[in-house]
Amino acid sequence: MHSTKQRITFTDKKGIGEVKLLGKWDIHTYPVKSIKRVRLVRKADGYYCQFAVDIEVNTEQRTSNGELGLDVGLEFFYSDSNGHHEENPRFLRKAEKAIKHAQRQIYKKEKAKNQRRKARQRYAKKHLRVNRQRNEHAKRIARNLCKSNDLVAYENLNVKGMVKNHCLAKSINDVAWSLFRRWLEYFAVKFGTTVVAVNPRMTSQKCSDCGAIVKKSLSTRTHKCSSGCKLHRDVNAAINILNLARATVGQTGSNALRSRSLYSSWCKPARASCDVEYRIPSAKAEGSVNFDFRFYIQPFAFKYTTL
Ligand SMILES: [Zn+2]
Repeated sequence: MHSTKQRITFTDKKGIGEVKLLGKWDIHTYPVKSIKRVRLVRKADGYYCQFAVDIEVNTEQRTSNGELGLDVGLEFFYSDSNGHHEENPRFLRKAEKAIKHAQRQIYKKEKAKNQRRKARQRYAKKHLRVNRQRNEHAKRIARNLCKSNDLVAYENLNVKGMVKNHCLAKSINDVAWSLFRRWLEYFAVKFGTTVVAVNPRMTSQKCSDCGAIVKKSLSTRTHKCSSGCKLHRDVNAAINILNLARATVGQTGSNALRSRSLYSSWCKPARASCDVEYRIPSAKAEGSVNFDFRFYIQPFAFKYTTL
């Protein structure tokens, strides 16, 4: 690391040498000692230097202590147990026209020509933009949820032997969802929120009011039960998810859950046959922050473009 912290010199034997850092993050406000790992990443619009910094994450105060169950779907980004539906932003759908245009441009250009390479770059950049929009959106929503809730329950969609139909519907939205989930777990540490991953089995079929099983196909959007309970399909599922989560937290003792410092890795409930699994983000996530810096590759380090 250069004394001005505007440049960084790599001393491992890869021959990268000195690179200049661009960007607006204040990496220089952190002592060099706290930088634990530096990584070079190539993205569509340039090279990035990532710093993993070891810091104490200041926990922030929650604004309220609600309890919320979330059901993710295709119709909405999520539906919660209070009946709120979060709109699906559909970043890809919106950018689709431009992306398809950019893709066609690639094939119009002759192979192995500079023009084609540039067209490909433009195409990759458009995808990068969509990914960043998705990430920002997931981050913002996850932060708000953890800030205003004491308990956030969501589906554990990686459960093996999941109902096939269910899986199909969710897989399309999968990328955005796993991103959202990672941010939820990140902010859970920050706000001291308990996040619970619940096995989604039967959550959409069961009546959240009386517990009866009301069979419905994917196209049935409302849950109607003979007990007189009538809800949006996803809201019914979200309430079920919250109830399942409450049951686990109650079982294991919520006090044990809150002393998060005791749990350094993923935790599983004591009962093996338990339907629900709660997780507490690892300590690693607690202490590291990634900074992205755009940086120039110096001419003498040019062979590193094959990174
Ligand atoms: Zn019912």
